[in-house]
Amino acid sequence: MKYTVIPSIIITLLVLTGCKKTVERPLYPVNPKPLVQEAYIKLPLGSVRPGGWLEDQLEIQASGLTGHLDEFWEDLVHSGWKGKGGESWERGPYYLDGLIPLAYTLNNNRLKLKVDEWMDIILNSSRPDGWFGPETTTDRWPLAVASKVLMEYYEATGNQKALDVITGYFRYLHDNEPDWPDKEWRGVRAMEHAVVGYWLYKRLKEPWILETIESIQKNSFDWTEYYCTFPWDSTAVTEGLIPHNWQAEGLTAHVVNNAMAIKYPGLWYQQSNDDRYREAVFTGLENYIKHHDQAAGRFSGDEHLSGKSPAQGTEMCAVVEYMYSLEKLFSILGDILLADRLEYLAYNALPGTMTADGWTHQYDQQSNQVLVSVAERNWSTNRDESNIYGLMPNYPCCLANMHQGWPKFVEHMWMATHDNGLMAGVYGPSSVKALVGKGTVVKITEETDYPFEGNIMFKIETVKKVKFPVYLRIPFWSEESTIEYKGEKIIAKAGEIVKLSGKWENGDSISLNLPFNIRTERRYNNSISILRGPLYYSLRIGKEYSNAEMSYKKYDYLGAMDWQITASTDWNYGLLFDEENPGESIIVEKHPVTEYPFADKGDVLWSGENEQHITWDKDAPVVIRVQGVKIPGWGLENNSAANPPPGPVISDGEAEEIELVPYGCAKLRITEFPVIKR
Ligand SMILES: [Zn+2]
Repeated sequence: MKYTVIPSIIITLLVLTGCKKTVERPLYPVNPKPLVQEAYIKLPLGSVRPGGWLEDQLEIQASGLTGHLDEFWEDLVHSGWKGKGGESWERGPYYLDGLIPLAYTLNNNRLKLKVDEWMDIILNSSRPDGWFGPETTTDRWPLAVASKVLMEYYEATGNQKALDVITGYFRYLHDNEPDWPDKEWRGVRAMEHAVVGYWLYKRLKEPWILETIESIQKNSFDWTEYYCTFPWDSTAVTEGLIPHNWQAEGLTAHVVNNAMAIKYPGLWYQQSNDDRYREAVFTGLENYIKHHDQAAGRFSGDEHLSGKSPAQGTEMCAVVEYMYSLEKLFSILGDILLADRLEYLAYNALPGTMTADGWTHQYDQQSNQVLVSVAERNWSTNRDESNIYGLMPNYPCCLANMHQGWPKFVEHMWMATHDNGLMAGVYGPSSVKALVGKGTVVKITEETDYPFEGNIMFKIETVKKVKFPVYLRIPFWSEESTIEYKGEKIIAKAGEIVKLSGKWENGDSISLNLPFNIRTERRYNNSISILRGPLYYSLRIGKEYSNAEMSYKKYDYLGAMDWQITASTDWNYGLLFDEENPGESIIVEKHPVTEYPFADKGDVLWSGENEQHITWDKDAPVVIRVQGVKIPGWGLENNSAANPPPGPVISDGEAEEIELVPYGCAKLRITEFPVIKR
């Protein structure tokens, strides 16, 4: 598949209402002048709720790791952010940045009580000069995260104190000297503050807030220039020029910093009104795709940017931060490309780097991942235990930061529009309750097994007839999508946004069908990956689970584990199929989505119900059958699958039927396959 990076939205007016153009009174806070208006308006936390399998996925988190981590991990149990004497840097705020959206998205009282335990302390930690947080904390970086926490908390609860603490902190930043050194996390990540800054300006409309953001933009590392010149390209990888250090230069090649920073030019675009910043976002995305692209929507970094070989890894923090960046960028810029990529990450890279029970995660995931073990690999800077599915392999940042992935994704699935309608930006089972039209509350329920299936049904609930537009995104990969509503049938083009205008009444529905044709992507060494809808498909490999010996303390607490996984079946297959018509040589088999949506046969999972680990015996929601041929000599190299032999591979080897499952369900996998030619 080819990516076309076009920073423009094509809006098709499919139904002309014939009414006079009126300026609608905004129902949600919008960007005040002089800011450039955002494409879409984020709804307050709690407006969007998960349904179907996605609700199960968030419940796994609530009843599992997120809902229990603060009970046994010392860094949270004794956190300085909770008024104790322990860890007082980023871990408490990171955890809350996931716990709060999870608690309020699920409306889960047990989790809300946990939130209160932290917030009671944080809300009372504000000092006269505006600084807040643990007494010993002098670094601005954890306060950047904590500000996002307070923003989410305010949206969910309306607690005025949260707004006051944020306002005080921004006053502090305004009144004190810039302190954003390039060689420190707080410096390279300084513009993370702008997320909260613009949110605050929407509410207070006070010019000093924009002065504060301008000062941060002008006194911190210039990511816009970085994306335009992009020093860490493929040549830098092959020539060994990527700075593998933790100094100023190394921090610009750091995968998580890159995943966060891609939104910074987009944030500043709102205030600068200069297209250079908008364009830098798309130039940056192109550079990631060209030089570091990996299957599953991610770019590599283990933990410095590390090129396109499918043996290289991506740190989990980079997955959740890239998702959050795309959520913000889609809201500001509205380009479909951003939402397409967000779905790739959420539905492939995120579940692929956790076990289906949510209890364990990897530091680094790989596209061709055939051995999960403590062993040396070709990582740029990470340690030997980085691809273990464990509690805190390599370093505990991901353990603290991973919780935001699913709940923030749900939070951003639907957005408000400037003509007082609603936009379905990314798809999945969910419901949205929001104000539309002249202020009527409606609920739209989205029923679907997406991303496993392409049929989506939207059902509208309203107490009275109400006129408002519904916008639907048509992904770039979806040709000939059909929409049926009010007796009409519309064929939509790939990469457009469809506007459905009309007067809606209770019980109205919209049916959207996105055809899930099999597609291929050309990848490393002329290999290919197979896609269907937003999902990548990987070879299903037999798995043997065993206990990994880790460098850190073990916890005997519910599902906390450290898994080593070895392959019990061969994985060295090339694909034998008709590249021109990939759908012809492939059989798609569908299975029910289970209570562990991303589990596959042979996975070992923590069952909360049985209070023990069980071996899962049900199929992944989709299994694809295709012909494969073994490639003798393709084996391990430095404990990863060697790079796929350059294709096409000429072979008269025996053809066998092989099975592919979604990347997110495959804890061992081949995703970049050599192509076999007879
Ligand atoms: Zn991390």
